[in-house]
Amino acid sequence: MERLRELILLKSLRRSGCLKLLSHATRRGLRVLCYHGISLRDEHLFRPTLFMRPDTFRRRLEVLRAKSIPVVPLADAVSGGYPDGAVVLTLDDGWEGTEIAAEILAEFGFPATLYSSTYYSTTGTQVFNVAAAYVLWKTDRSRIVLPAYGVAGTPGDPVLGATLDALDNELAAHERQRLLEDLADHAGVRIDGLFRYLDFDGLRRVRDLGMDVQLHTHRHRLPKDSIEEALREIELNRRLLADELGVDARHFCFPSSFAAAEHDVILEQAGVRTAVVNGGLLNFGDVDRLHIRRLMDSELFDTLRFEAALSGLLDVARRPARLLQRRRRFGGRHSAAEGVA
Ligand SMILES: [Zn+2]
Repeated sequence: MERLRELILLKSLRRSGCLKLLSHATRRGLRVLCYHGISLRDEHLFRPTLFMRPDTFRRRLEVLRAKSIPVVPLADAVSGGYPDGAVVLTLDDGWEGTEIAAEILAEFGFPATLYSSTYYSTTGTQVFNVAAAYVLWKTDRSRIVLPAYGVAGTPGDPVLGATLDALDNELAAHERQRLLEDLADHAGVRIDGLFRYLDFDGLRRVRDLGMDVQLHTHRHRLPKDSIEEALREIELNRRLLADELGVDARHFCFPSSFAAAEHDVILEQAGVRTAVVNGGLLNFGDVDRLHIRRLMDSELFDTLRFEAALSGLLDVARRPARLLQRRRRFGGRHSAAEGVA
């Protein structure tokens, strides 16, 4: 019922021209969109906020093209020199389906940034926590029992989940992969060909298709209580991208969007120029370059909701004061003062 009410409201906002007006009123705000994996089979049914069907992704780009919305590279946008209504497209992690996204983006001639977490690109193993959760989501078994690993419980049992999380932290890469395959076999769920990150050849291919590959930590974690460990995460991530892809990555995405005040000094020390965090779409002059807001698009959004979000509706509904900030552009002063590239 609520969904229906929302649909009626959005349709009337579009029909009456309100969305257009709102887009115009917020045109100076830099819009940043976030995507993760592109679905290879049915992962979008499992985690619709993490995986999107290729067709849905393509439809998003068609909306941008149909509305003549300028899609600009991140590095250009943060200089403040972006055109009105500009959008920056970003993808996280580096799932194998990113290559499908890169091919679609290349067809449209749209630039995008990929925030790559490099650990699983080096091991070639499947992403354990996500793949294990998929197995438990998909299995028909009422009970999972793997005595060799001390794993037992119903698929929805939080204790079972916690045991798998602990094993994820304890085991070496090849042991973790073995456990995952045993779990999938036992549960009768096929995970072959799913839940891998691109290896470095794959990352080079998406780079060659035009993606700007940037930082997302090596192991997808940024501790806030150990500067040394956090710096190591960023440095190793950057070094691998430099060695394997020849890029000097200076733009960063907080893993799992977890950003704490303690991180600011870490990012400064690591020479990070900009960082993105989820929540909101519009970036005006009051937004810090280390906390650039992004809207996480999802398979659950239909085209109408996507169009409404692009207009700034969700931001303005949450913080009406944002409309008042519309005169100040994001970014320019940082580029002048700090040489943001
Ligand atoms: Zn991530």
